[in-house]
Amino acid sequence: MTPCEKLRARGSDLIDGDCDEETAAKLNAHLDECPDCNPWFSSLQSTVGLLRNLPSPPIPDGLLEHIRQVTTRNK
Ligand SMILES: [Zn+2]
Repeated sequence: MTPCEKLRARGSDLIDGDCDEETAAKLNAHLDECPDCNPWFSSLQSTVGLLRNLPSPPIPDGLLEHIRQVTTRNK
């Protein structure tokens, strides 16, 4: 596994604080030096932050019924 793959596999753990200290230090060090992973991680972080701050959106009337019809039709 390349350091990039490792970071992408553990990115959400790093945000959640689910990595052990050594792993977190390695991932953070990689973030500092990798021009690809840095923006990737920033966008992951903001996505996770947004999702956590949003209340569950209400499901619009008729949406479930619409999904059911579409999925049934395609079977
Ligand atoms: Zn990388």
